[in-house]
Amino acid sequence: MLQLVENAKSTPNKIAIVEKDNSFTFQELFDRSKEIATFLLKDKSDLSEAPVAFMVSPGFEYVATQWGIWRAGGIAVPLCIIYPLPSLQYVIEDTGANIILVGEEYEEILKTYKSDPSKTFATVAQITNSKEADLPEIEKSRGAMILYTSGTTSLPKGVLTTHSNIESQISTLVKAWEWSSDDYILEILPLHHVHGIINVLCCALWSGATVEFLNQFSAKEVFNIFLQGKLNVFMAVPTIYFKLIAEWEKLTEEEQNELHQAMSNFRLMISGSAALPVSVMEKWKEISGHYLLERYGMTEIGMAVSNPYNGERRAGHIGQPLPRVELRTVDEEGIEVKAGEPGEIQIKSPSVFKEYWGKPEATAKSFTADGWFKTGDIAVLEDGYYRILGRDSIDIIKSGGYKISALEIEEVLRKYPQIKDCGVVGITNEEWGELVVAALVADEEFDTDQLNIWMRERMPAYKTPRKYIFIPDLPRNAMGKVTKNELKKLF
Ligand code: ATP
Ligand code: MG
Repeated sequence: MLQLVENAKSTPNKIAIVEKDNSFTFQELFDRSKEIATFLLKDKSDLSEAPVAFMVSPGFEYVATQWGIWRAGGIAVPLCIIYPLPSLQYVIEDTGANIILVGEEYEEILKTYKSDPSKTFATVAQITNSKEADLPEIEKSRGAMILYTSGTTSLPKGVLTTHSNIESQISTLVKAWEWSSDDYILEILPLHHVHGIINVLCCALWSGATVEFLNQFSAKEVFNIFLQGKLNVFMAVPTIYFKLIAEWEKLTEEEQNELHQAMSNFRLMISGSAALPVSVMEKWKEISGHYLLERYGMTEIGMAVSNPYNGERRAGHIGQPLPRVELRTVDEEGIEVKAGEPGEIQIKSPSVFKEYWGKPEATAKSFTADGWFKTGDIAVLEDGYYRILGRDSIDIIKSGGYKISALEIEEVLRKYPQIKDCGVVGITNEEWGELVVAALVADEEFDTDQLNIWMRERMPAYKTPRKYIFIPDLPRNAMGKVTKNELKKLF
């Protein structure tokens, strides 16, 4: 992703990164990343696409490490800083990374690798090379990064993207969402996932904008930063908007007014990575004055579909394909479906990844013979906007010959006054194939017979859940996505 590094030269004295009480310019980022690249190259002239795993806290040193790996010709493998050791080992072993860079705070958890003679293990803060190496020329077709999918449906898969894939992912968004060097964004998302890395961090730095890091997420702290009036762009996942709304409700009317005023300075607020409930979009509009822009993407394809920057942002919908993205929706035979009919989203675009790392069979299976990437997500085109019905494997419940969207049922359930959140899944049933069931999150358990009557007034009987259970919270993964396979086990 050398174009990103190249761009930094045009705004050397601008502030690129703010963390705690420190700020760093693009020039500092450029110089520090060269030190790290020099260290990595030691006696080589090019890392030649060797995977380099790094576990560094969000901030200046994280970005410098990522850029340093790219500048030395390596493949950046960011590790999730809250993972327990077995999950970290899974990524390190799966990528075969022989070089591991860590922040001081992570030396302890990864210590088994420190004493492993087959690994180069280094603490980033101790890298202070002064002798400068000549950095290699890097073809854009080379591998740049391995990101692991969120592991929502099965074990996370390593997704290899090239420099040109990532450049395409970033440049598409920079244009569509009108990024500029005047922008200032708060980074609260994990930095081992496409949303935090590409949409927030790389798009901002590519544009010469400023990124402020928040180490430990708290809704209160986010609002404090909003009140400082520096930000104008914000991105988060639906669960975070949930938390911010809950925090808002605790504020006095005066505090709410002050915050509402501060949010009027934003030019853009975005939600993605999971379906944004219509109720959250509506509530957020009330709170902030902004229609959230919902978009759809995957680790494998970057962002593919987005509501418009200018123009109507339609609740419950993901919008239209981004520029340079070819999209079609197909039935089980691979035949394109008409508008209004559900089908699987398939994508062709320069942003689409190269391969699942070390999994040629999985890679081959995920593309059609004529090169379309099969997302596994089912969507329907309604009045010019796509709407996601869910993942074919878990959200599309096959019951009595019907195909039922769990997401649609969740949308209706959420309108019931006592329900705070919910998750709908299908459980195996001999007679029906699958049965629709729902897990409910509420302050107190209530009589579900009333709920059933209420649901029947709003949905055909075959779609209404056959069983309800109450749980304190929905099971979620590190990206805040509901892990429905876990949810199924509760029934
Ligand atoms: P795994 O592939 O390991 O099961 P994952 O699919 O959750 O995990 P990601 O690549 O992080 O891993 O997520 C991509 C998926 O997130 C998409 O395939 C889609 O199901 C879901 N998604 C992303 N944006 C949206 C959205 N706006 N609405 C609904 N679903 C979304
Ligand atoms: Mg996936």
